[in-house]
Amino acid sequence: MTDWQGKHVTVAGLGVSGVPAAKALHGLGAKVAVVNDGDDARAREQAAELEALGVTVRLGDGDTLPDSTELIVTAPGWKPDKPLFAAADAAGVPVWGDVELAWRLRKPGAADWLAVTGTNGKTTTVQMLASILEAAGLRTAAVGNIGVSLLDAVLGDEEYDVLAVELSSYQLHWAPSLRAHSAAVLNLAPDHLDWHGSMEAYAKDKGRIYEGNRVACVYNTADKATEDLVREADVEEGCRAIGFTLGTPGPSQLGVVEGLLVDRAFVENRQKNAQELAEVADVKPAAPHNIANALAAAALARAYGVSAGAVREGLRNFRPDAHRIAHVADVDGVAYVDDSKATNTHATQASLAAYDSVVWIAGGLAKGATFDELVAGAAKRLRGAVLIGRDRALIREALARHAPEVPVVDLGRTDTGAMLQAVQEARRLARPGDTVLLAPACASMDMFANYNKRGDAFAQAVRELGA
Ligand code: ADP
Repeated sequence: MTDWQGKHVTVAGLGVSGVPAAKALHGLGAKVAVVNDGDDARAREQAAELEALGVTVRLGDGDTLPDSTELIVTAPGWKPDKPLFAAADAAGVPVWGDVELAWRLRKPGAADWLAVTGTNGKTTTVQMLASILEAAGLRTAAVGNIGVSLLDAVLGDEEYDVLAVELSSYQLHWAPSLRAHSAAVLNLAPDHLDWHGSMEAYAKDKGRIYEGNRVACVYNTADKATEDLVREADVEEGCRAIGFTLGTPGPSQLGVVEGLLVDRAFVENRQKNAQELAEVADVKPAAPHNIANALAAAALARAYGVSAGAVREGLRNFRPDAHRIAHVADVDGVAYVDDSKATNTHATQASLAAYDSVVWIAGGLAKGATFDELVAGAAKRLRGAVLIGRDRALIREALARHAPEVPVVDLGRTDTGAMLQAVQEARRLARPGDTVLLAPACASMDMFANYNKRGDAFAQAVRELGA
């Protein structure tokens, strides 16, 4: 669909993707109608802005398909089982997400996409990748599910050589024709299953990122599910599968040898001038899961033809975002680390594995998760645990089952002020050399507006300790 003039397009959902999509489509000459479930103050404000442009907006009813709709562009979060989509299906109306729209609207000869998905590590990896591409002198940006909208990047005046694109499983679900230059699935663990319906459906949506890849499909050798997705994908001829491993790399793999990030050529020393990509110490923080992220970013950059030197420089320049294993302070020989972004058990497992002796602050909204595997795996490393938030009993019970010797303080609190007490209790449990780690394994909304606020409260409490 290249001629938008007069096309009847329904945008499903206002918000961060819907408003820019409606504006862009209106600007292209389409007849745009927006439907939205809610009709709160924010929605009304956004509706007024769009209506002033001539866009029709219907608030409080996101499930009736407007007459004469020829295409739906949906917010990625809208569940596929919504009645609106059944109506679209019955009427033969295609449904695109914001990513599909951006993909279809990109200009001829526009930037290639290097795409990243996975249950955890997407944002970090995409930012590392953008940093590497920049170090190689390429015009690039980290875009997608990460702040900068793809639509802005695709339609804006700024020109890019290549984009580092973060994609969520929702976005991939609604992006049937996306064809990346190269793509990586970092890992796959149960998350958002209520939306996708099953682990199989979740994996299938993630796997869409490999469809039609031209140069490389990057997978995690420690996570067989990612390799299976590569095998199932329909890719362009000549596209290679490239694995990353924290051990010595096998053929077509990147890995780690004696504190260096290397490729197979380095190991075999056959190829003249084979050089390391970076040192482990160049990766910040140099926790195992983050080294895996760096290897994935390096693999994508190498697939794009970037030099080893730029990989190193890009990783050195990279600064992790706040609340992702952020070192807050050392107090009395104890390190205080904020990993408030660890909102699920998979992420928390990775951050607990990065320390030998941990006082763990956890709890919040469990989103249906179970904690047995997480606690059993981390039991040896736990000096103690301090629990906060609504679903803390689930973690307490898992600790009782799998780590009965570990002292546990259940604060029984869900108010914001609990964070200060949690940090004080953690200090009491910690010994010099330990790490007090906020890695809640849960969402934050029972106590805080979001994970940023939760991390800020932790950092503030730590500062009060040191004062
Ligand atoms: P995402 O964008 O996928 O949510 P982030 O880079 O924001 O990923 O990291 C989210 C959380 O996951 C952080 O708490 C971080 O410690 C953890 N994490 C980062 N990379 C990985 C990984 N490769 N495996 C497991 N956990 C990870």
